Amino acid sequence: MGGKFNKILKVKAIALFSGGLDSILAAKVVQEQDIDVMGVVFETPFFDALRAGKAAKMIGLPLLVINITEEYIPMLKTPRYGYGRNMNPCIDCHTMMLSLAGKKMEEIGADFLFTGEVLGQRPMSQNKQALHIVAKNSEYDGFILRPLSAKLLPETIPETEGKVDRGKLCDIQGRGRKRQMEMAKEYGITRYASPAGGCLLTDPAFSKRLRDLFDHRKDFKIRDIELLKSGRHIRIDEKTKIVIGRNRKDNAAIRNLSEENRDIVIEMKHFPGPVALAPYGCDDETLDRAASICALYSDAPDNEDAIAECRMAMEVKLISTKAAKREDVKKLII
Ligand code: SF4
Repeated sequence: MGGKFNKILKVKAIALFSGGLDSILAAKVVQEQDIDVMGVVFETPFFDALRAGKAAKMIGLPLLVINITEEYIPMLKTPRYGYGRNMNPCIDCHTMMLSLAGKKMEEIGADFLFTGEVLGQRPMSQNKQALHIVAKNSEYDGFILRPLSAKLLPETIPETEGKVDRGKLCDIQGRGRKRQMEMAKEYGITRYASPAGGCLLTDPAFSKRLRDLFDHRKDFKIRDIELLKSGRHIRIDEKTKIVIGRNRKDNAAIRNLSEENRDIVIEMKHFPGPVALAPYGCDDETLDRAASICALYSDAPDNEDAIAECRMAMEVKLISTKAAKREDVKKLII
């Protein structure tokens, strides 16, 4: 019955599409079965949809980009399954993505979901048990197909119902990339991004800053996360951190993210140097320290007084300062 029915109404599927080679191949394998595939990719301040956008264009896959920042941040603060090596809550993150993709599947009346996951490729997050936990917690267990490893996994609902031909799915497992390379060649896919990378939560330096933000500012805003991507971050004390540009790009980003009624922006008056930002302001004593740190990274000569211009809202304060000692500041860098 199912088979006949499917011939009249074309089967539809949602691909959780990262744009990496495995997700491209998974999409190809499913598309080959004459199934309508729509890609879905999620974005947050920690990962974007650029790679997915390029890859989808390359293989002619319609792609829906969904920003999930609002629901992602609370999960990131207390992930049920904890973090990976850095601040990456991969199991919870993946569960959330599958759950949201599942909702999208229902919304558009698609028949199933699939991902480019390969059994055993990442020992921690792609072993049989992790794949099962993620599928179960997403509440769409049974509807989630992993075309690249499907033959090694329990049959899913679309396979049982004859919407997908299990015989044409793959049995890839492990960390080797040989089979994927061969498939890429067969499909004529020559350009693709490396499998790793793209998620800031796996970056040790970014993760350290994010942890510091979580520990010191419970009511942080998205712009506080955006600030973590630029400059040096120097924690002066429990209440105050300053962000100092390392180059023009950082300086422009910091200036753009500053909020004139809340933050203090510090620059040296007579010497080229960085833009320094004290988010949410600080008291006078701390501002003196921030000004001396700003002087350190500027062209102001060591051991000579220089003027730092500190701006908050309409107010401008000039502080005479000397460059802080590099070894003292080094200890404060997050
Ligand atoms: S690497 Fe980043 S985007 Fe990927 S599952 Fe982990 S937290 Fe999510």
